[in-house]
This record gives sequence, structure tokens and C-alpha cells, in this order.
Amino acid sequence: MLKIGCHLSASKGYLHMGKEILSIGGNTFQFFTRNPRGGSAKPVDEADAAAFRRFAEENGIGIILAHAPYTLNGCSADPAIRDFAARTMADDLRRLEYVPGNLYNFHPGSHVGQGVEAGIEMIAGMLNGILTQEMQTTVLLETMAGKGSEVGGRFEELREILDRVTLKEKMGICLDTCHVNDAGYDIARDPDGVLTAFDRVIGLSRLKAVHINDSKNPLGARKDRHEKIGEGTLGTEGILRVMRHEALRELPFYLETPNELDGYEKEIRMLKELY
Ligand code: FE
Ligand code: FE
Ligand code: ZN
Repeated sequence: MLKIGCHLSASKGYLHMGKEILSIGGNTFQFFTRNPRGGSAKPVDEADAAAFRRFAEENGIGIILAHAPYTLNGCSADPAIRDFAARTMADDLRRLEYVPGNLYNFHPGSHVGQGVEAGIEMIAGMLNGILTQEMQTTVLLETMAGKGSEVGGRFEELREILDRVTLKEKMGICLDTCHVNDAGYDIARDPDGVLTAFDRVIGLSRLKAVHINDSKNPLGARKDRHEKIGEGTLGTEGILRVMRHEALRELPFYLETPNELDGYEKEIRMLKELY
């Protein structure tokens, strides 16, 4: 069965998100672990987490995806910023143990002129300091648009990070259709070619989630501006080609399109119908 959902606000807790996603036709969701610009997280509400686990079990809500604040930069030139990224990620992962067995996605970071190799080294170093054998969350590197000095615009860069992580079994990749388009991979018109390249460089077994977004920009623009499904470069057919690809059949799909809840509901219903 198709696993599809969207980004939801976490402000009212896990159980609320679970009920909300069912009400708009989805069966999985993504949320920010805290304010997307960083900042402190509310204490874990253990009763809410337990109630959600039961609710998810009873209502067929599959694996869910926690998204790190997008300002975390584990390869900043400033050690204080790197340290903040590491502490925030470690704290997020501790908190996610209350909803075990799910996914945690983060943007690898921007090397800000230090060079991509130095960036890769620092990101892997951060992960090696944080991941534990006991943790039950899988940590995902997101494919990036390659804007500015972003690391992760090329599959090879993600592969190099994974190569340097000791606890590889705790790691995976989240593929963002807007980002890969903007990075120059023609995922909408040639999903087979792009996924073959992904498989050769990283391995499809590492792919654990897909962000389905249209893009405001042309192939290779290195921009990262999401668009509503069907209103951008990829188009509804392009998005469906990705969703229908046999290599992705078991994966959860998350919309991160510029929408409020009613817009997400329309997109989820449309994609479910056309799929
Ligand atoms: Fe993201
Ligand atoms: Fe994304
Ligand atoms: Zn994006």
C-alpha cells in the first residue's frame, strides 16, 4: 500500500499529528523536532508518545520522519556552531527513543569555503560522535540542491560521508525530488537513469524515504525552492513517475510543498487517486 503523508506542525504533540494525518488521507508524516531555526525543544511528553505509539499501531500509521532544524551545520568553520549542531542532534536522537524505530533526516551542511572534502570529514566526524549501537532510529542524509557550498548535491558526496561513518547500519538517505532536480538529476523525466546512478554510487538499499516536491526552478538551477505538485518543473506526471518506480514501492513519501493543511489534503488525495 502507498505510504504517503506531508509535513505537519509538531506543536500539539505526536497523537495530534497522528489524528491530523488520518483526517487528510495520509498514513505517515514528517515534523520538525524543534523550531526549524534551532532553539530549544519542549520536554518529551511521555504519555503523548505512548498514546501515539498505540494509535499508530491501531490505525496503520507507518514509519514517521523527524526532520532536524535546517540551520544545523555540522561542517561550519566555527567550532561553536559545529558543537551546537552535534549537541542538538544528540538531544533529538535521545528524544526520538520515545517513539522508537523511526527516521531522522538532516541536511548534511554547508562547508562555507573550507572545501567539500573538509565538510564531508566534519559531518562524518559529528555522526561518529553521536550514533550509538543501542539507538533505534535510522539517521538519514538528505539529497541537497547544491546551493552555495551545500554538501550533498552529488550522490558521491553522500556516499563519502557514509563511507566514513562507523555505525553504517544506523544510516540511510532521504531523496528530495526538488533538490535532486535542482542539483541537475533529471528525476522527473528519467527516474530510472537517476535511480540507477543512485544505486551505483550509494546503493538503493540505503534509500529510506522520499520527499516529493515540485520545483520552482529548472533542472540544475542549484536553488531549492519547492513548488506545489503540478505547478513546477517536475509536473504531476514527473512526480508520479518517481512514486511508481518499482525501486521505491516500499518507501514512505512526504510532501513538503508550499501548502497549509487543506492544500496538503488535496495533493494527498490527488496523488493517491492517480497512483
Ligand atoms: Fe529537508
Ligand atoms: Fe526535503
Ligand atoms: Zn528544500
